[in-house]
Amino acid sequence: MSRRKSKGKGGEKVRASFRKKHEQRRRKGDVTRAFLAQEESLHDTPQSERVSGKGELSRKRTVRGARIESRETGGFEVLPDVDLSMCVEGCVLAVHGLKSRVRLADGRLIECTTRRLLKTLSTDERHVVVAGDRVMVRPAGEREGVIERIEPRTTALARTVRGRRHVLVANIEQMFVIGSLAQPVLKPNLIDRFLVAAEAYGIVPIICLNKVDLVDPADFEPTAGVYGQLGYRVLFLSATTGEGTERLRERMVGHRSVVVGQSGVGKSSLLNAVEPGLGLRVRAVSRESEKGRHTTTTAQLVELQSGGHILDTPGIRQWQLWDVEPHELAGFFRDLRPYVSHCRFPDCTHIHEDGCAVKEAVANGQIDLRRYDSYCHLHRGD
Ligand code: GDP
Ligand code: ZN
Repeated sequence: MSRRKSKGKGGEKVRASFRKKHEQRRRKGDVTRAFLAQEESLHDTPQSERVSGKGELSRKRTVRGARIESRETGGFEVLPDVDLSMCVEGCVLAVHGLKSRVRLADGRLIECTTRRLLKTLSTDERHVVVAGDRVMVRPAGEREGVIERIEPRTTALARTVRGRRHVLVANIEQMFVIGSLAQPVLKPNLIDRFLVAAEAYGIVPIICLNKVDLVDPADFEPTAGVYGQLGYRVLFLSATTGEGTERLRERMVGHRSVVVGQSGVGKSSLLNAVEPGLGLRVRAVSRESEKGRHTTTTAQLVELQSGGHILDTPGIRQWQLWDVEPHELAGFFRDLRPYVSHCRFPDCTHIHEDGCAVKEAVANGQIDLRRYDSYCHLHRGD
């Protein structure tokens, strides 16, 4: 996975803002910024230094570190200097209260606390440790350590609740969107919805159409073709016969993935086909319906034997994965996106307006009608 280079040099003194207690942090337009950064990277997002006129950020302190641009949010964050000779790189598998379970690069699995500075350092882009974070750890003994630094995140599955952004997991690269071709019937609208989430978070989606043993795949070529033309990877699979599961394994190994799809489509079965027992270890996908049982609500990364991780979170459905405003939605439909700037009204919803370039493209057959229908459903909030 690519690691963004730090812009600043280590050792600089950086004026960093510290979070006032109980302060609500607003996170507006994240998704749009992330999307713009990803799609165009034409210009740098303007530096958004917070003005503390209203006292939103109350204290400034000088920290030794580098001020760097965050690829994940498009804002800036401070990466404090650490004595790297004392540190080992690691990956946070799970966070329980104040402790994080970290797999170190040398193979050790340790419990870590977090350096106090990281908890108070507020640049509005930095959050306390979450699963998936790459961290610098100062080991203390064989089984413990202190997280000294959190490396900049490339992606974050997050949700804004009452103005506050909650990050569920960081640095997820791929989203396997699982649908079944029969039992239950394929629901392309649901696939579209997950694709929007993937686009919004800058995660690469891979569409997996399972239970191909139950159908004639030729019947589904047109649907798959629409996605293929948009540049999405589509796999036809059968967990039962093993068809396509080797390709699925190849794509999972060495990467960090989340697996989504309604229950019954075969997520657990496919994970087991990739690696025996994996479906069980990834609780979320098999026990989505068992809400309220005493499961943790935090995300965990499940390690694949041959490298890579699968996100395990019981809350993935409640989270709905995305936080997209209606006016942003069309931008996350690859097929609608090229037309939106040609509509007569700049605030066109592409639903009922005259002079709508999107509707025109649908009428001309340039946009697939079913995809447009899917957009309309999502726009209504269905
Ligand atoms: P999940 O809820 O998405 O994790 O789905 P499961 O893996 O529990 O599978 C749901 C049901 O579909 C089970 O009865 C599986 O045996 C069945 N199933 C899963 N994959 C396939 C497949 O490729 N073909 C067929 N015919 N059945 C499958
Ligand atoms: Zn329009």
